Amino acid sequence: MTIIDGKETAAKIKAEIATEVAQMVAEGKRAPHLAAILVGHDGGSETYVANKVKACAECGFRSSLIRFESTPEAPLDPKVLMDEIARLNADPEVDGFIVQLPLPKHIDEQAVIEAIDPAKDVDGFHPVNVGKQAVGLPCFHSATPAGIVELLHRYGISPAGKRVVIVGRSNIVGKPLAAMLMQKGPKADATVTVCHSATPDLASITREADILVAALGRPGFVKADMVKDGAVIVDVGTTRVPDATRKSGFRLSGDVDFEAVAPKCEAITPVPGGVGPMTICSLMLNTLQAARNRN
Ligand code: NAP
Repeated sequence: MTIIDGKETAAKIKAEIATEVAQMVAEGKRAPHLAAILVGHDGGSETYVANKVKACAECGFRSSLIRFESTPEAPLDPKVLMDEIARLNADPEVDGFIVQLPLPKHIDEQAVIEAIDPAKDVDGFHPVNVGKQAVGLPCFHSATPAGIVELLHRYGISPAGKRVVIVGRSNIVGKPLAAMLMQKGPKADATVTVCHSATPDLASITREADILVAALGRPGFVKADMVKDGAVIVDVGTTRVPDATRKSGFRLSGDVDFEAVAPKCEAITPVPGGVGPMTICSLMLNTLQAARNRN
């Protein structure tokens, strides 16, 4: 059984990116520039954005963090956010930018996503990028699915001809991952099934998976009897669960009962240190691509 090390793989990819960026700079070109907008003070979002800023430094990118306060007493005017998006769309010094989700409830997330110039949408959430991805055209792929595809590839696990079962149909994980893996061509050619909360007898389907992807946000949901012997397991779940032994007071839990499932598998991603670091890597790769497009 192989524990798929997303952290180590991500470090290698970031080193590859840094080498290309150093070359760009040596040729007199500007280093890639990623901007991030953070609204409010959600604990998870603060951590994700801090990790993205750190990854930019590791890759030799310039990064900018734009913060807006928003509280229930003083909610951010959505127009202020939209104006900032328009400014970043027009800024020739910014190659790509993200608006960290989730946003406070009073802001229309879909409207925000659609306000981003698709050419700078390095999260790959804009419908133009989603549509291009669906028909197999070059685009900014959604970061988490792209990270999963690359992680499997780097471990020599080909989805071609395999039965892939994805549990979860969100717009940021399940759907775009299914779209990527069902394409014709390299790193794809899988037979994909997507399950969700209305899927009856889920275990009978997950047991057919050669590659099982759990993206539900329900800690320890996938048990050993839901998994075929020798399957590859990709655990996307990252739920904060209380843990008094940790300084932070919580730990991250995946959607797979790791201790019970791991002995049955050919390979499995841990949480943390599996898919998470690869998601940030995809964002860096998309930003590098945006900079290449600009050059
Ligand atoms: P989401 O939008 O909440 O969607 C969850 C999906 O799981 C939905 O499609 C839901 O079905 C399905 N589901 C929930 N309970 C189920 C059940 N009992 N049986 C079958 N399906 C069930 O979640 P998400 O944004 O995709 O995130 C999923 C998890 O991945 C979360 O823990 C999140 O934190 C994590 N995540 C991690 C990364 C990373 O970089 N590591 C990135 C993104 C997300 P319905 O559609 O029918 O409601």
